[in-house]
Amino acid sequence: MDYFELNNGVKVPALGFGTYQMPSSITEENVAKAIDLRYRSIDTAQNYGNEAEVGAAVNKSGIARDQLFVTSKTQTSGYRSTLRGIDESLQSANLDYFDLMIIHWPTVDNLGTYKALEDAYKAGKLRAIGVSNFNSRKVQNLIDRAEIKPMIDQIETHVYWQENKMHDFLNKNNILHESWAPLGEGMSSVLNEPTIVNIADNHQKSTAQVILRFLTQQHIMVIPKSTNPVHIAENLNVFDFELTKTEIETIKNLDRGHSDINWPSSMEQEAY
Ligand code: NAD
Repeated sequence: MDYFELNNGVKVPALGFGTYQMPSSITEENVAKAIDLRYRSIDTAQNYGNEAEVGAAVNKSGIARDQLFVTSKTQTSGYRSTLRGIDESLQSANLDYFDLMIIHWPTVDNLGTYKALEDAYKAGKLRAIGVSNFNSRKVQNLIDRAEIKPMIDQIETHVYWQENKMHDFLNKNNILHESWAPLGEGMSSVLNEPTIVNIADNHQKSTAQVILRFLTQQHIMVIPKSTNPVHIAENLNVFDFELTKTEIETIKNLDRGHSDINWPSSMEQEAY
């Protein structure tokens, strides 16, 4: 496993386990399986309704808490409800702290919402804080007006929508670029993309592995999701090979410069 360092010095696994749309009834067993396979980072959210099951798997794993990195995301707007929501999430997950809490999507009161994250961070309830689905202007507003610089922006990023402008902006500001939907939410077209199939054959890897390596080699944190045991294992096994400069350039050329989902619209390239 490779690690990246956040701007507050906290180390974060370059690859974690996503749990979006994972029914709570199967989350604990899947997260437990992932941790057994040596995943050390798990991504959940208030919105996913499975924080309790993620926390249960973490608590029962037998792995020291400081060896695991647990992310959750707020779905509240404003200071008070966000502060309350963080406490409720901790209680529900039965954890003393989250390693990372991010604002899930822009709210009507980003500064107030973020202030709650800052206070929870200062109180030791969060080891790192950041945002998700924030374009450069919204991130810049926090850099200019908040007390603590965000440490991560988690945004849709995959081979077809590489977010190059945001990547440069985040890099320049020492904020880690984290990808959601690194496999394009399993889009068969991206996983069968002939260029990537060729590169995968060269390395005797799957296309999913090549895509995850492509992103992590560019210092982008990834959190692929799967409930298929073969895929869960495969997705983690990406740190024993390197793509060449030419291969990276070839995959860079697949960028379409926009999302097909277009959510949230504030993340469209024109709004960058
Ligand atoms: P993903 O890109 O991780 O794709 C997941 C799908 O890809 C799976 O359902 C499966 O069908 C397929 N898949 C996974 N591994 C595969 C493999 N090795 N071979 C073939 N197919 C494979 O999409 P995602 O789950 O939407 O995104 C990852 C995580 O990002 C989520 O689970 C969640 O934790 C997070 N997320 C965050 C936001 C946000 O707004 N912050 C939005 C969406 C997702």
